[in-house]
Amino acid sequence: MLNLVLFGPPGAGKGTQSQKLIDKYNLVHLSTGDLLRSEIAAGTELGLKAKSLMDQGLLVPDEVVIGMIANKLRENKDAGGFIFDGFPRTVPQAEGLDKMMAACGTEITCMIALQVDEEELTKRLLLRGQSSGRADDQNEDLIRKRVQEYNTKTAQVAKYYEQQGKFFSVHGIGEIEEIFGNSCEIIDRHLAKAKA
Ligand code: ADP
Repeated sequence: MLNLVLFGPPGAGKGTQSQKLIDKYNLVHLSTGDLLRSEIAAGTELGLKAKSLMDQGLLVPDEVVIGMIANKLRENKDAGGFIFDGFPRTVPQAEGLDKMMAACGTEITCMIALQVDEEELTKRLLLRGQSSGRADDQNEDLIRKRVQEYNTKTAQVAKYYEQQGKFFSVHGIGEIEEIFGNSCEIIDRHLAKAKA
């Protein structure tokens, strides 16, 4: 099974690259941001609670996102692999994911981390906000808050995977195809190693 964690700050291009990786490797996409937005759209209690945090650029509690991922893993028992997008965002979430993977008899293959500097991120998110209508992408203060949450809480998740020898960094500025090609090279190397 190929289980990828796609990592990077808001606006790094996780959504774009996820879609291409899903198509190429036939993976099930699990994005906690998308799952939370569909809870909000459905007007659930969970969605209501999450919205007030997301509107402030803050992370929602670990147990909420871990629970959502657990449900999705149960619903997709026959999947050939997963791509985790926007999750894990804290070390406890990464630990939770390792436990869930082990319970499924599998593990995280590797983390692909897209590297983009803060000025470029802000530019991209403000542009995305104009077309997507996502409120959290339309306000520069909120974008900075999300990047700050990333720097204080999420960046440590990279170290967690580094300690397991599973962290791989990809330069996230430039042509979409080139970034994709560099990510595939890392993944294919893993797949070849797993087969050998
Ligand atoms: P982006 O990466 O562009 O910020 P996402 O769609 O991944 O967009 O996330 C939007 C918001 O949803 C985050 O700012 C955060 O409030 C919440 N969120 C998403 N995933 C998680 C997670 N794994 N843990 C906590 N909060 C999350």
